[in-house]
Amino acid sequence: MENLNRRDVLKFSSGLGLMALGVSAAPAVTSASPPAASGVMLCRDAWGARPARAGGRPHTIDRMTIHHSAVALPDNRQIAARLRQHQRYHQDDKGWVDIAYHAAVDREGNIFALRDPAIAGDTATDYDTTGHFLVLCEGNFDEETVTDAQLNGAALVFAWATKQFGITTATLASHREVTPVTSCPGGDLEAHLVSGDLKRRIDDLLASGFALNPVCGAQAERIVAAIQAGR
Ligand SMILES: [Zn+2]
Repeated sequence: MENLNRRDVLKFSSGLGLMALGVSAAPAVTSASPPAASGVMLCRDAWGARPARAGGRPHTIDRMTIHHSAVALPDNRQIAARLRQHQRYHQDDKGWVDIAYHAAVDREGNIFALRDPAIAGDTATDYDTTGHFLVLCEGNFDEETVTDAQLNGAALVFAWATKQFGITTATLASHREVTPVTSCPGGDLEAHLVSGDLKRRIDDLLASGFALNPVCGAQAERIVAAIQAGR
């Protein structure tokens, strides 16, 4: 097992299967260890998404931006319902094709696929979302404290995005850094950008290895059921 190539390592990791909820730290490194962090990206169906509407602006991702929902989430068991609520509001009231963001991270670090990354996101503020990979951290970080698990989940999905879209962590910004008219992503989460902590977490994953595997269908439903049951 000394010479596992990267593909084998990823297979090995997904074969472990899970690790499933959020991001798990690996035990002490050995030559056959899975990547330092591995997690799953839950498909849209798992949170009960409606289909996206036709249309939207195709774009090429060249940077990444972090957001909060500005609505406190004191009970993480509500995450799937909360994502459906955002999507309804964005489609029905804002007239957007889909939920505004490309991925979400809950308070426990679980990662959810949202809008197709090939379609530019939407914003209620005034910046151009073209090129941005938009990650939503659920919660209100002007009122709540971001958890370590949520920061690690955000780091994992951003690390994945750098590989997926061929971009660097130097492109990471918060919403308020691209437009001053918003407090998003909230003071407590913003502090992790200002200090460089979030970027450091992403860079650490890129240096040590990670896996983020899509999970759909019955397996994803089981994970969401466990989240809703508070397990
Ligand atoms: Zn925002």
